[in-house]
Amino acid sequence: MIQLKMYINGEWVNAQSEKTRDIVNPANGQVIAQAAEGDVEDARIAIQVAREAFDSGEWSDMPAVQRAGYLFAIANKLEERADEISRLETEDNGKPLRETQFDVADAAACFRYYAGMATKPDGQTYHVADPMQAMVVREPVGVCGLIVPWNYPLLMAVWKIAPALAAGNTIVFKPSEVTPVTAVKLFEIIEEVGIPKGVANLIMGAGATVGNELAESHFVDKVSFTGGTATGRSIMKAATGNIKKISLELGGKSPNIVFADADFETAVDYALFGIFANQGQVCSAGSRLLLQDSIYDRFIERLVERASKIRVGPGDDPSTEMGPLVSEVHMRKVLNYIEIGKQEGAKLVCGGNRITHNGLENGYFVEPTIFIDTTPEMRIVQEEIFGPVLAVQKFTDEAEAIQLANNTVYGLAGGVFTQDGAKAMRVIKKLRAGITWINSYHPTYNEAPWGGYKQSGIGRGLGTFGYDEFTEVKQININLQVGPVGWFEN
Ligand code: NDP
Repeated sequence: MIQLKMYINGEWVNAQSEKTRDIVNPANGQVIAQAAEGDVEDARIAIQVAREAFDSGEWSDMPAVQRAGYLFAIANKLEERADEISRLETEDNGKPLRETQFDVADAAACFRYYAGMATKPDGQTYHVADPMQAMVVREPVGVCGLIVPWNYPLLMAVWKIAPALAAGNTIVFKPSEVTPVTAVKLFEIIEEVGIPKGVANLIMGAGATVGNELAESHFVDKVSFTGGTATGRSIMKAATGNIKKISLELGGKSPNIVFADADFETAVDYALFGIFANQGQVCSAGSRLLLQDSIYDRFIERLVERASKIRVGPGDDPSTEMGPLVSEVHMRKVLNYIEIGKQEGAKLVCGGNRITHNGLENGYFVEPTIFIDTTPEMRIVQEEIFGPVLAVQKFTDEAEAIQLANNTVYGLAGGVFTQDGAKAMRVIKKLRAGITWINSYHPTYNEAPWGGYKQSGIGRGLGTFGYDEFTEVKQININLQVGPVGWFEN
């Protein structure tokens, strides 16, 4: 049994209470690890350590090239341990190995991207009235609380840890209580490469206690959070005490719009990928498929034909295309939404059940599920299900497609399929969403900003935008002719 400890001030420690939490493999319900279950007191210790480490300046004042060296070393070690880490991610989260292998490679690339950014120019100068010279420099925000969900445990961690450290902050990182395993492996690497003690701290425990303390503490300067919109709202409130900086990457109910003139098979393929990749547990999932009326029936027929052939199974089986959902609790939530969809009068044309045969009976497997004939007010159209459940909507023309697409509280992502380039751009420009694709769905790049409009969040992760979120901007004005201002006569 793997024992998972917290990493605070360069030491591996149990919770003060000695409490632990069982970590379960969602493919078979077996306990694979026991994780330290920290509480508010543990969080306070970790925050204090990060505060002292930041205030000492050891990390923030270190030459950027040296900080970058640590991050490049982390990337190398992630690659050296890629097989082990991807296997553990599959055991912990359930997602197929081919996805976790990709996640580990992407995590290493993200560290390299931000290692490079640490040494790049980041200031500006301004032509103001003589004899003044004005400039801005970027400085680290300070102590950053980083809180992530369970859908991409390693990758979400790295999207925050890499830019935060590159910019010179110290961190207290909290993984989801459901999926802490690969975070522990990452912190083993952080220790191995020799990042100074106290700079990077790992705390485990429940969001309502440990996570909330990160959001509330006056010793934390910034919280960067990815997860549900309801939790984001609670973090925003908790952060008011010291007017903490916050970045929130929240949920979505993203539209994938297919016009009749789209390349048919490409659009079908991406519609499947958009909702069923990672078992639908993706904030940007194309969970609403908007189809133009003239291709509606033919498209659905082909979609259902292909969705029903998706190979669902344990993530460690190389032939598996879709794994289990992350936990029993989450599976029950998704199954409940499927019941809601039926009760609301949507027509179920594919899946809809837990899979309990062929050796999958102890895992949390749900069939790829498709509802058609939905109406805009239905809960399965409005609410984030975060599972392999697609709601199909029908539209007649461009104006209706845009109106339906924007008709939720979310604004994270969206896709448009058409062979008419001008139409694609017209529609994309009207989408109230932060991440969009034309004739594609899902590709994500370390170089490009990630985040949403409306209730899908505040701020951006990744790219230069993601780096800037972990910096403060300081204005410096220099008088080049030193002498009195002469404002007062006496
Ligand atoms: P949560 O938003 O509840 O959890 C995300 C992270 O926040 C976890 O580390 C969690 O800790 C922590 N957390 C929970 N409550 C608080 C709090 N009050 N203060 C500070 N931190 C807190 O998401 P879940 O994982 O429970 O999933 C719920 C829903 O959120 C999903 O069904 C989905 O709709 C959405 N979601 C969106 C994601 C996205 O990328 N946009 C990703 C994951 C979920 P703990 O694990 O202990 O609860």
